[in-house]
Amino acid sequence: MTGTDFLRNARGNDVGDTNYDKLPFYMKFSLNKGEDKDVIFLTEEGEHVGIPQHSVKVGKYFKDVTCMSALEAPCPLCQIAESNPAVKRAAGVRVYTVLDMTPRKDKEGKPVLDKETGKPIMYSRRFLILKPRAAAKLDSKLARLREKKKLTGSLVGAKFTIARSTDEMAPRSGDDFDFVDMADLSQFPADDVEELDYGRYFEPSAAALKILCANLNAPTQEAVSPFGGEGTEGVEGTEAQIDFD
Ligand SMILES: [Zn+2]
Repeated sequence: MTGTDFLRNARGNDVGDTNYDKLPFYMKFSLNKGEDKDVIFLTEEGEHVGIPQHSVKVGKYFKDVTCMSALEAPCPLCQIAESNPAVKRAAGVRVYTVLDMTPRKDKEGKPVLDKETGKPIMYSRRFLILKPRAAAKLDSKLARLREKKKLTGSLVGAKFTIARSTDEMAPRSGDDFDFVDMADLSQFPADDVEELDYGRYFEPSAAALKILCANLNAPTQEAVSPFGGEGTEGVEGTEAQIDFD
């Protein structure tokens, strides 16, 4: 079965439900160029989740989605990635849960308030997603900290400053890890220091792929969709729908 057949099957008869807003939204740790932030790890060393992940351009932004190869299933995005630059080839990533200790701000820089308490949100749980190079840097940092006995116990509770350089190639997750100290997690409400639900957001999902394929940017104006239908005109930075039928 080819990736195309797989997607046709995954789509079934339910072609209407391709609303992009139906994709699960999660908060990902990210940095601007030259920025650094403090995080506290909530995932134990070596117990991160490892998955193959595609980045898919929808409108102006990239959305990450787990590659179906994680289930040893054919993956339509792997096929599309061969010809459409809106879909990046799958890369193995690591996922950790961290407490991002930077108070949340909205786009205008104003504090985001907790809906229940009305107080500013001082920290937030996020997924820290590391591509292979950043993961290797974290590993070598941890090895050095352990060798020097600066980090002796669990990674859970370890506070790090993560920085992103101004280098063009530096990942949004940051790739420079500086150990600060061990935080006292008992100071936080228990629910705030639990790991996030990985399954909900990272399990390979035919439904999520269906939504992404229906919303991804078309490769070029003349391009024909890999599903047999005509691709609609794609303009960089705008939403272009591929018509499957
Ligand atoms: Zn794939």
